[in-house]
Amino acid sequence: MVLLDVKNLKTYFETKLGSVKAVDDVSFQLKKGEVLGLAGESGCGKTTTCLSLMRMIEFPGRILSGKINYEYTNSIIKSYDGAYDRYLFDKVKPARENKKESTIFEEAFVDNILFKRGIKDRSNNLLDLTEAEMRRIRGKHIAMIFQGAMNALNPVHRVGNQIKEAITIHDPDIENRDAWDKVLNILETVGIDSSRARDYPHQLSGGMKQRALIAMALVNNPQIVIADEPVTALDVIVQAQVLKATKELQKQFDLSMIMITHDLSVIAEVCETLAIMYAGKMVEYGKLRDVYKEPLHPYTDALINAFPSITGPKTELFDIGGRPPDLRNPPTGCRFHPRCPKVMPICSKEEPRITKIREGYVICHLYQD
Ligand code: SF4
Repeated sequence: MVLLDVKNLKTYFETKLGSVKAVDDVSFQLKKGEVLGLAGESGCGKTTTCLSLMRMIEFPGRILSGKINYEYTNSIIKSYDGAYDRYLFDKVKPARENKKESTIFEEAFVDNILFKRGIKDRSNNLLDLTEAEMRRIRGKHIAMIFQGAMNALNPVHRVGNQIKEAITIHDPDIENRDAWDKVLNILETVGIDSSRARDYPHQLSGGMKQRALIAMALVNNPQIVIADEPVTALDVIVQAQVLKATKELQKQFDLSMIMITHDLSVIAEVCETLAIMYAGKMVEYGKLRDVYKEPLHPYTDALINAFPSITGPKTELFDIGGRPPDLRNPPTGCRFHPRCPKVMPICSKEEPRITKIREGYVICHLYQD
């Protein structure tokens, strides 16, 4: 079953120096229980793509067009029961002195009332939801493990309290004891002794902090988890432990995951599907075994060749050469053409279209009729 169907997503950042086309016409699907790896050089649009899915793009960025169809959007809206209204209303009262916070909650409150009055049949597109509705999806249905375990936790709050907050924000009526039971359970599930719930983040090791973030993402039983470079800041031994734990949890909860990384070995370890991004475009997408064994796009080929082989003969590392383009003014035609070893005259003139191939697609003139 397809849980998430992203179609022609465009996210641009409007700056004084021009429009940065960070995510440009990206399409892909995520099935139930599938792990999708999203790879590419830094700045290619991996994180922006995923922040767009969560609708967490901040000014001056904005989602220009496209669709993010999430299977359960309709049923979430239809099961609306007013609990969130009551919760927001309670929040508005004590927040009145704080103008900014008060405005946010009051707007959300009004959003909900408008929704209750008029809108009956919505599409599954997350981009059609109000901000208040979207807040019900973030963390509860689609959760994110943020980059940099060292900085993602609040240093002045106990780890257990931070995980508990993730529960109560979606279930304000939950009994304190029940919420704590959930916190302690999820900590044990991710391999942290529940007695550490009272620790502050600085009392945990790097691997434990990363596990605590995973616990926070999983505690509400989301359908989809987006992991943004979950093991980048960790040493290789802890990386292996966290990846093993992530794989086990994914199987245990039958999670759909999007794993953002520039490390192809991480993808080979945990993913079934692979998407390669270059300069805001998803240039190749398909089953991991196909893309890894027989890459079609010259950039995918170069990226795989640039990765050292542990078992093969010692050879000089392959260098892709050149630099990723400035996304305010990307090259005409194929954005990879200034660096492509297989460039043809048409490549700088015409933008290649999607060619459906195997169980995915590639965007390259080499495969167009
Ligand atoms: Fe290379 Fe041309 Fe394909 Fe772009 S379209 S990757 S430049 S061959």
